[in-house]
Amino acid sequence: MKIYNSKTRKKEEFQPIEEGRVRMYVCGPTVYDNIHIGNARTFISFDVIRRWLIACGYEVTFAQNLTDVDDKIINRANEQGRSAEDVAEEFSKKFIDVMHKANVMDPDIRPRATREIGPMIGMIKTLIEGGHAYAADNGDVYFAVRSDPTYGEVSGRKIDDLMAGARIEENEDKNDPLDFALWKAAKPGEPMWNSPWGEGRPGWHTECAAMVHRYLGCPIDIHGGGSDLAFPHHENECAQASCAWHQGFANTWMHTGMLLVDGEKMSKSLGNFFTLEEVLEKHSAAALRLLMLQTHYRSPLDFSWERLEGAENSLARIAGTVNNLKWAAAHAEGTPDTEPAAGLIAVTERASSEFESCMNDDFNTAGALAAYFQLVTEANTYLDQAGSAVDEEAATVCAVSIAGAFALLGIELPQPEEELPVGLLGVAAGLVAYTGDDVNEAAEKILAARAEARAAKNWELADAIRDQLRDMGLIIEDTAAGSRIKYAK
Ligand code: AMP
Ligand code: ZN
Repeated sequence: MKIYNSKTRKKEEFQPIEEGRVRMYVCGPTVYDNIHIGNARTFISFDVIRRWLIACGYEVTFAQNLTDVDDKIINRANEQGRSAEDVAEEFSKKFIDVMHKANVMDPDIRPRATREIGPMIGMIKTLIEGGHAYAADNGDVYFAVRSDPTYGEVSGRKIDDLMAGARIEENEDKNDPLDFALWKAAKPGEPMWNSPWGEGRPGWHTECAAMVHRYLGCPIDIHGGGSDLAFPHHENECAQASCAWHQGFANTWMHTGMLLVDGEKMSKSLGNFFTLEEVLEKHSAAALRLLMLQTHYRSPLDFSWERLEGAENSLARIAGTVNNLKWAAAHAEGTPDTEPAAGLIAVTERASSEFESCMNDDFNTAGALAAYFQLVTEANTYLDQAGSAVDEEAATVCAVSIAGAFALLGIELPQPEEELPVGLLGVAAGLVAYTGDDVNEAAEKILAARAEARAAKNWELADAIRDQLRDMGLIIEDTAAGSRIKYAK
């Protein structure tokens, strides 16, 4: 399996530290508001990556934090006259709920910054002792960037270039403008904890380094997040961990491309966002995921409602093909032609191996999906040609393979129509004298009666059966493989 390592800017053969095990960490959200679908793109991408690693047989341990103390949370709390804790609690819950709706698997470990203050203070102490950090007069503690000779390697930046961009702010307590806060002295009304440097709270970059070390152990196999986190967040996480423990931090760095609207990054500050919650009220989680996975995780992805609508239609077509294959297999009649059946099996195997090689090539979901879109077209051609003489095994193998591939990516295909209630069918069957409690039997009887009426050119009865079903919200669908009764859309 090859994975693009953004640190080395190369696709590398993936080699876990421990045989058969993968330890991965993906930075979680700052819980001050509902997440938007840009954030969701990152979380869905890593969900798929995790699912594929599991499918490949790795025992994956996946950790993701909740940043539940931060300036944004404090500002929101002040605006709303609430406590920061209350805001963080509300949006942590909402985040977890909406991740479930989006079919994103729960992390194995979900640490929260406010419950990890002890380990963070421990790490900061170690950094001060090692000469990598210093307490300023104002009660802040800073990391001394120039004390880390490898600083800049994660995001591919040079210290001198960073220096050119850094501004020295007024009242600066840092020794060097590049230094960043590990600990921030308390301001009145803010959440605070005791520390050797006085009351205060941790800086944002501090938590992930301490959590990775505590829950996964350094170094880990994969560290991920959106590409906007590479600098300074990931650079700073890595600097702290490598200087505190000298064991390395993460072997493979993975960064997802940004979700855009009209070419601009979706973000809270630009106001060009849709929350995941509102999108899932209008569309299925499966369609949103399909839309996202049709673009490689590292490429930018332009969101539009039309594209999401398009994904919804593709999904219906795929689910329709799977259902038609299953239905045709269950209602096969006559002797199937062996050649087209063998052909269907062969194209199914080809799609499956193409899927696997695309996924093993840096999680190329776009290519993996394209292989199955092609198979769906081929399956439909097969069904049209075979009529009712469908090869049961070939059709079933193909249906299971399509549904399985999508499920593997976390895309649940829409279920076939709900089962038709026998009560309704019983009424229609009144026209053909049906009494019984088996839905299939009732449906068969109605369809047979209609076929018989049509064969006898008794159009009045055939139409009456059709009309009565229609009045009950049911339609008769005539397909190459036979007729069936469905709910009208
Ligand atoms: P935040 O809560 O701002 O730290 O963001 C949570 C995650 O969403 C981070 O991994 C960000 O990199 C990611 N993210 C933010 N905006 C976008 C976007 N427009 N597209 C993709 N990922 C994003
Ligand atoms: Zn982080």
